[in-house]
Amino acid sequence: MTSSAGPGLPDFQAWFQQAPCGYLIADDAGRIEAVNDTFLSWSGYSRPDLRGLRVQDLMPVGDQILYSTHCIPQLNIAGAVSELAVEIIGADRKRRAALLSAARFPASGEQRGSVGIIIFSAHERRLYEKELVSALRAAEVSESRRASAEKELHRLALHDRLTGLLNRAGLEAKLDQLLAAHDGRGRSLAALYIDLDHFKAVNDSLGHAAGDELLVAVAGRIKSAALGTSTIARLSGDEFIVVDSFQSTQAATAQAAGLLETLRTPVLLGGLEVVISASIGVAVVAEEAETIEELVRRADIALYRAKASGGNQWELHRPTEADPTADRLRTVGELRNGISDGALRVYYQPRVHLRSGAVDGVESLVRWQHPTRGLLAPSEFIGIAEDSGLVRPLGAWVLDETLRQAERWRKQDPATGELQYAVNLSARQLNDPELVRMVERALQARQMDPARLLLEITETALMTDPEAALSSLTDLKDLGVGLAVDDFGTGYSSLTYLKKFPVDELKIDRSFIAGLGLEAGDAAIVASCIDLAHAVGIRAVAEGVETPEQAEALIAMGCDLAQGYYYAQPLPAPLLKAWLDANSKDGLVAEP
Ligand code: C2E
Ligand code: CA
Ligand code: CA
Repeated sequence: MTSSAGPGLPDFQAWFQQAPCGYLIADDAGRIEAVNDTFLSWSGYSRPDLRGLRVQDLMPVGDQILYSTHCIPQLNIAGAVSELAVEIIGADRKRRAALLSAARFPASGEQRGSVGIIIFSAHERRLYEKELVSALRAAEVSESRRASAEKELHRLALHDRLTGLLNRAGLEAKLDQLLAAHDGRGRSLAALYIDLDHFKAVNDSLGHAAGDELLVAVAGRIKSAALGTSTIARLSGDEFIVVDSFQSTQAATAQAAGLLETLRTPVLLGGLEVVISASIGVAVVAEEAETIEELVRRADIALYRAKASGGNQWELHRPTEADPTADRLRTVGELRNGISDGALRVYYQPRVHLRSGAVDGVESLVRWQHPTRGLLAPSEFIGIAEDSGLVRPLGAWVLDETLRQAERWRKQDPATGELQYAVNLSARQLNDPELVRMVERALQARQMDPARLLLEITETALMTDPEAALSSLTDLKDLGVGLAVDDFGTGYSSLTYLKKFPVDELKIDRSFIAGLGLEAGDAAIVASCIDLAHAVGIRAVAEGVETPEQAEALIAMGCDLAQGYYYAQPLPAPLLKAWLDANSKDGLVAEP
């Protein structure tokens, strides 16, 4: 630690040492480089005790896994993690509940990258906030220093950490000024909404560090191609926006074409040439009274059209254009009818024991036979069903249909009575006070053994309101049904909660399985998830297994169950039954 923390900041060294929360600075691998006095007195360690240790070495095993599966990836993707509930083992070997927040400082010049970590106890957090305010107000901080510290804090809040561009809040603040200054004289304000095509694929295949590098490169290119007067912001992930006033609509679309051109030139990432394209939605202020939000929203609608027609192009929003919210409303109406008219279908995807290949059960996946658009995947309508509340009747129907089908199969072939039937629950259903009664009635109606039913709930749904989720899960558990955490690894759950939730399995998200054998980081994450599941005494399930190599790797890591195209796609009931007949007779899955 040096005591000069940059010009204009309060005496950072003193602040660092005495802030009423523990501060740690670590290198990229988590190795501790500096700690403050508060951390030492809270944990009971001395500085020499901590020499050579990693932050995660101070945690119990479960939290170590949490740190490597959530904290590190999150730091790499978003650059920061906030308020992860962990435990720190003190010098007296006693565990201390803590809230861990961390931010990554990328390498700059001579300096290596590092990770700054703040550890609070809940009580200390409140103290810290008070302290922050009073530190700024402190009498010994001169007026000008205080002003520049405040300015610095303000600047940080308005800028994107990764690219240095404005963030959403920064854009809003700036646009208000822009609009106020805009006199409309012969020029029109336009928004260019930029979204990279297939960024997720790049991110998934090259890793998040490369993804970040790409975003930084893209930000640089947008800056160089835009006019000096433009306001540029990164709105989220791979979404950027450029706002400026132009002579004409043509001048705005010419700017969009120029941006596309610049973005198409390959970017060098770790010696690899990556070609990326983008889509741009353009909107030009239509009337004096239009607000900036309205302008950005129209640019977003045009962007949607550019994407839908294949990407790598710009589209201009015509003020007469239909609003997709109208489409959404129509879809809600159609879906409501679809649910009552029997237009939903359930497809079943088998899950198998990795070692033996024996079939363990099936997962129900809903489809919608739309009157004009054909058979729709859940991605086309589950979001709409969630927003409109239709996911409750939809979910109830899927559950009942699954149990009805199970009953029918059981009558045809008693051996299928051993299968476990997995059904997905949405966050919205989890908060439904009627949920438990609905499940209970459905089980009774089909005389189904509750243990044969497994309800899958995404990690994100569990973590939005952990306390409420815990109470619903406990009630469901009391019914005797099995519970699974779906898409594990994509949100950030706290191990403390995971230990409390009465779940029976973790389903590792398929994005990590896809990286097996391709990305060392993914193998480490999958291995940690499996260890984490086993550490809390539950099964680990791999989703999206597509190749024999992935299956092999999972077996080697001790994963219990698997599901994926390698074994079978989701199939309609008759085909699933045929698959079961062909594959489960001898308890072995044939080579696909
Ligand atoms: P999920 O629960 O994670 O379901 C697994 C998804 O992965 C399914 O997509 C499945 O078709 C797909 N998949 C399975 N094996 C492979 C593979 O080897 N490779 C790849 N690339 N994909 C594979 P699907 O059917 O489109 O479902 C998407 C999501 O929609 C589900 O994700 C689930 O979150 C949601 N969903 C599906 N049915 C229901 C339902 O009845 N209720 C609710 N609330 N959500 C549902
Ligand atoms: Ca699922
Ligand atoms: Ca899943």
